[in-house]
Amino acid sequence: MSDSVNRRHFLSVSAAASLGASVLGAAAPVPVGSKRPIVVASGNGLQTVEKAMERIKAGADPLDAAIEGVAIVEADPEDHTVGYGGIPNEEGVVELDAAVMHGPTHGGGSVASLRNIMHPAAVARLVMKRTDHCLLVGEGALKFARAHGIPETNLLTDEAREIWLHWKETNGKESDWIAPPNSELSPAVRKFFGIREHGTLHCSALDTHGNLGCVTTTSGLFYKIPGRVGDSPIMGAGLFLDNEVGSAGSTGRGEANLLNLSSHTIVEGLRRGLAPKDALLEACKRIVATNRNPRLRDAKQRPNFQVKFYCVAKDGRYAGASLWAGAQMAVHDGDSARLVDCASLYDDPEPN
Ligand code: ASP
Repeated sequence: MSDSVNRRHFLSVSAAASLGASVLGAAAPVPVGSKRPIVVASGNGLQTVEKAMERIKAGADPLDAAIEGVAIVEADPEDHTVGYGGIPNEEGVVELDAAVMHGPTHGGGSVASLRNIMHPAAVARLVMKRTDHCLLVGEGALKFARAHGIPETNLLTDEAREIWLHWKETNGKESDWIAPPNSELSPAVRKFFGIREHGTLHCSALDTHGNLGCVTTTSGLFYKIPGRVGDSPIMGAGLFLDNEVGSAGSTGRGEANLLNLSSHTIVEGLRRGLAPKDALLEACKRIVATNRNPRLRDAKQRPNFQVKFYCVAKDGRYAGASLWAGAQMAVHDGDSARLVDCASLYDDPEPN
């Protein structure tokens, strides 16, 4: 078989596997209601909001719709921040984190440091539905996924491996690894020169009955220490919802959200009557106020990292906001999917 036939075969097998995994544990559709649905996601979630809205219009549960939406990006080798094709940890192994929350039941499930499973969000839903727990990690999470028959996949694509290898070959003066001349590197590798970009996919969905569901899924910090877990699988930090109030989630430096439980802060802001944008900016300001580590501040004492927030209120109002300017979010309001600019605390662009 030629390489391209091999690749096509692999992609069709993994697409079938991914579909099976992403629908595992989904509820049967119900008749649609009369409220206007809204789906929001981080800027890498345009296809996510499209798929989630399509599923909501077919009567799917809002969490199931969001999980099907993020499954497209989890299976996409071109997105290096989520699922298959994610940038690995410092040892070259892809470790995924994901969490889900379900408004009507106020249930939640999550997995952290999960290896070899393309759809961690679907496994998180199984943790919510098929255990008496909220969070499974590492080997235990993998064994749990296996127990449910979820197929294993090598998540490290050649492109992600080459990006990681170049980081390894240029990281540290004492290293014995030697990088090739830049002219021999692929454009994909050159694109990631010198950056330890963060990225993640969050999706919050409000269905036609006014019910909420949300999911955050990620491969986490590029080249992380094995076992490092960010905010994404931690309810209250990387996502949170209250079915009577709203749903929120985040991408960006997870440690800042862990230290401030930012998504919970946002939902509590909505509960107090803040407008969605103001609830998000309040969480940004909280991060600024508590960021006392000099290593994480710029010359003006501002955070030298980016955090982005997204939320949907129970009444359908939504917003996105970030510390630094330039962020976008994906929105589907029932009519069309589009990218819109987020508000920001600072007017300057994201620091490198
Ligand atoms: N929040 C994610 C983490 O800290 C990464 C990101 O969104 O950039 O793992």
